[in-house]
Amino acid sequence: MLNFTFKNRTEILFGKDQIQEVAARLPENAKVMFLYGGGSIKNNGIYADVTGVLNGVVVTEFAGVEPNPEFETLMKAVQVARDNEVNFILAVGGGSVIDGAKFIAAAVNFTGDPWDILVKDAEFGEPLPIGAVLTLPATGSESNGNSVVNRKETAQKRAFGSDKVQPVFAVLDPQYTFSLPARQVSNGVVDAFVHVIEQYLTYPVNAPLQDRFAEGILQTLVSEGPKALATPQDYDVRANIMWSATMALNGLIGKGVPQDWATHMIGHELTALYSLDHAQTLAIVLPSLMFVQRDHKSAKILQLGERVFGITEGEDAKRIDLTIKAVQDFFEAMQVNTRLSDYQIDKSNINDIVANLEKNGMTSLGEHGDIDLAKAREILTLAA
Ligand code: NAP
Ligand code: FE
Repeated sequence: MLNFTFKNRTEILFGKDQIQEVAARLPENAKVMFLYGGGSIKNNGIYADVTGVLNGVVVTEFAGVEPNPEFETLMKAVQVARDNEVNFILAVGGGSVIDGAKFIAAAVNFTGDPWDILVKDAEFGEPLPIGAVLTLPATGSESNGNSVVNRKETAQKRAFGSDKVQPVFAVLDPQYTFSLPARQVSNGVVDAFVHVIEQYLTYPVNAPLQDRFAEGILQTLVSEGPKALATPQDYDVRANIMWSATMALNGLIGKGVPQDWATHMIGHELTALYSLDHAQTLAIVLPSLMFVQRDHKSAKILQLGERVFGITEGEDAKRIDLTIKAVQDFFEAMQVNTRLSDYQIDKSNINDIVANLEKNGMTSLGEHGDIDLAKAREILTLAA
């Protein structure tokens, strides 16, 4: 086990009607920016619930944060936050809205070009505090310090991370996920699954508790994910998926173990270039990455196969093949395609993807830093 420090400051308010707890958690004299996305919250009752608990509070609404939140849109929100002297952001939505809130929170008092927060790791002062009301279990953004921002203009999707922008509280009401379209339920399960894999599928460091945490989340997603598609109104299924997605990326399971975020980094280029959903990119990249990195990862792939998918028979090489296939089959069972060609992207596009990785400095990815551009090309070619 590697050394670590662990602290997670987000207070989780989990379960039915926990939105009622929000009012008591706003700062005194709060001037709240109520941040949301494209308007789904107006059709499913969440908007009414939130305005209900904000009754009597000074509120500035900012709507229109897109999936894969756009830098330009967020910069407009920064201006609105400055103009209205906002001192708290309530982010209501999925990962895009919550990630967007983190960027706004950091940029409001930043004096230089806020893009530098994303591309130069520029230091920023005290950000605005954030509360989150989660409507899409997937990213873990509600209780981590990560934020991913897209910039169409330059075909870049970049991330920054800081404990300082982690939400102070997060409402996780599984009822709020009933209105999700199947595609977003699927995306969420796949994203959370891949988050766990990226903190698990590296090399063993004698951390059995971390392994069991990870395997427990993976097993839960594999059993409950398809149920959420088959019986969409099942509260307990939604609740277990919601908690799994939060636990997948709140910091806990990644402590003391090596990590490999190459699938996310390569996936970000696919969204930046071709506007694929985040989870679609992951389902394309991960199986091929497992195949190309199978020698480095063999011990953990075998363990994953045995403990999560019940694959115990045959030679190691065969079990590794079967485990990669089981991961791919799980994504397909969740109705997320696993090939570039499923999205009309073919081998002729791979040069552009690799060039983008190079432009963004993604040239030594993986737990050993050995996924260079040549290996990324190999992974993408296999995924074609
Ligand atoms: P999302 O982009 O936040 O939302 C996707 C779509 O789902 C939107 O159209 C949204 O509509 C809709 N939606 C959300 N909740 C709904 C509900 N309850 N009912 C009906 N529709 C609903 O999806 P996401 O997967 O959560 O976030 C993806 C982003 O997070 C990507 O940019 C990805 O790179 C990033 N990410 C962040 C982290 C992290 O650690 N911070 C990790 C992984 C990925 P509205 O616009 O109307 O709300
Ligand atoms: Fe993700």
